[in-house]
Amino acid sequence: MHTTPKPAGESGPVAQAPAHVRAISPYRAGKPIEELAREYGLDPDRIVKLASNENPLGVPVSAQEAIAAAARDLGRYPDSNGFALKALLAQRHRVPAEWITLGNGSNDILELAARAFLQPGLGSIYAEHAFAVYALATQAIGGRHVVVPARELGHDLEAMAAAVDDSTRIVFVANPNNPTGTFLAAARIEAFLEAVPERVAVVLDEAYTEYLPPELRADSAAWVRRHPNLIVSRTLSKAYGLAGLRVGYAIAREGITDLLNRLRQPFNVNSLALAAAQAVLNDEAYLARSYALNRRGLEQLQSAFSTMQLRFVPSYANFVLVEVGDADAVYAALLRQGVIVRPVSNYGLPRWLRVSVGLPEENVRFIDALSQALRPQSLRPASSASPEPERSNPQVRSAAGP
Ligand SMILES: *Cc1c(COP(=O)(O)O)cnc(C)c1O
Repeated sequence: MHTTPKPAGESGPVAQAPAHVRAISPYRAGKPIEELAREYGLDPDRIVKLASNENPLGVPVSAQEAIAAAARDLGRYPDSNGFALKALLAQRHRVPAEWITLGNGSNDILELAARAFLQPGLGSIYAEHAFAVYALATQAIGGRHVVVPARELGHDLEAMAAAVDDSTRIVFVANPNNPTGTFLAAARIEAFLEAVPERVAVVLDEAYTEYLPPELRADSAAWVRRHPNLIVSRTLSKAYGLAGLRVGYAIAREGITDLLNRLRQPFNVNSLALAAAQAVLNDEAYLARSYALNRRGLEQLQSAFSTMQLRFVPSYANFVLVEVGDADAVYAALLRQGVIVRPVSNYGLPRWLRVSVGLPEENVRFIDALSQALRPQSLRPASSASPEPERSNPQVRSAAGP
C-alpha cells in the first residue's frame, strides 16, 4: 500500500540535528565512469577517468590472488587486531606493532585522529587548498577551523606553527598535498615539528609518499620516535593500487595508538583488504611499475602543458594541477569528450583542474581532449552544458539521452 510521505516537520530529527552536522558540505568525489556513461550516452569502455588519483595499473595481480583465497573465509569476521598486517608494517617501518593503527582507508585514520583530540570549541589547523577531509573531519565534531593561507599554493608551515593557540588540538599537514601536488622538504617538516608544542597532535598525511623520488622520501617513523605528538598517515589506495578496498594506517606512539584503537570500529578493515594489503606490500615489482609509470606520465602531462602554455604546479604526486581559465566550462567540455578530471573550485581554485596521471594512451586522450576543449567555440557556459552527445566525436555512441 502506498501512502504519501508526510512533510518533514520543523521539529523532526533533521531540524534537531546539531548545527555543525547540518552545516557539513558533502565531499565531492570524482565522477564515476558509469554515471558519465549514463548521463551523456557514452560507451563506458571509451571513457577515461583521471579524476580520483587512482592507480592506472589497476589492482595488482598479487592482491587479486590474495583476495580470491581470502574470499573463501568471508563467513568469518576479520582479525580485529589485524595481527599479520601490523606485523608486516611494523617490520617495514622498524617500529613496534603497538605503534600501528589500521584504517578503513587512511580517511578513517584522519577521522579517528580528529575524534580523538577535538571537541566543540577546540580546533584544528590546516592549510588553504589542503585535502578536503581535514575540514570535514573537524566539522563533523563541531571543532573550530583555522585555515592558514597558502604560500605559492603550498603549506606555509611557519604560519601554521604560529597559528597554534590554547584551543588548538590538532594540525593536519599533507605532504605531498592534494590537490596541489606541492611538497615540503624533510628539513622544513623537522623545523615545524620542533616548533609545534608537544601537547598538540600533528597528523602528517603521506598518501603520496611512494611517488616521491627516493632521495626526497623521509624516514617518517624516525620522526615519530622523536615526536610523541606525531601521527603519520599512509594509504594503500594510491601507489599500491587498492583504492576500492579501503586500507590505510597510522604510525604513532603507544598512547595515541591506544586512543585511536579505542575509537575505531572493531572490524574497520575487512578480510579481503587485510589479505590484499599484505600481498601488495610484498609486491615490489608492482610498486616499481607504479612509480615508473607515474614518472613518465607526469613528464608527459607537464610537457604538454608547457607546449600549450598552460600554467601548472610541478607535481610530486600522481596528479597535476593545471590552470585552464574557466575550469567548470573546460571540465564540461572534457566530459562531452568522455574524459573525466577533477574541478577544484571547492578548494578555492576555480581556474584550475586536477588531472590524475593515467596510462600513456589515457594521458594522450586527455591532452587531445584538452586542446579541443580550449578552442573558444567548444566552451559553452558550464550552466548550459547539455548532456547532448557530440555527433562529430567517434568516441560517442548515439543515445536516446536523458
Ligand atoms: C587520497 C588521499 C587520502 C586518502 O585516501 P584513502 O583512500 O582514504 O586512504 C588521504 N590523504 C590525501 C592527501 C589523499 O589525497
